[in-house]
Amino acid sequence: MGIVYVFTWVAGRFRCFSGKHERSEKHIERAGTDERFVSKCRFCGTPMRRRAKRDWVVISRAEYRNARRAAASKGVLAP
Ligand SMILES: [Zn+2]
Repeated sequence: MGIVYVFTWVAGRFRCFSGKHERSEKHIERAGTDERFVSKCRFCGTPMRRRAKRDWVVISRAEYRNARRAAASKGVLAP
C-alpha cells in the first residue's frame, strides 16, 4: 500500500514537472457566477482554472486569490 502510494505520488510529481498538472477533485470551488471554477493540482498545489469541461489550465496564485475573493464578495452582496 505504502509503496504504491509513494509511486503514485512520484509519478504525479513527474507529470507536474512536464506541465501536466492534475486538478484535485476536492479542491474545486465555484468562483463568482457562470461556469467559472478554480481548483488546485492534487500533487503540488498549483492553482488551476477550468476553461472547458475536462480542460483545466494553470493560473497564477494572484488570479486564483482574486477569483476566490470575487466569489466571496458576491456571496456577501447577494440578496
Ligand atoms: Zn502539479
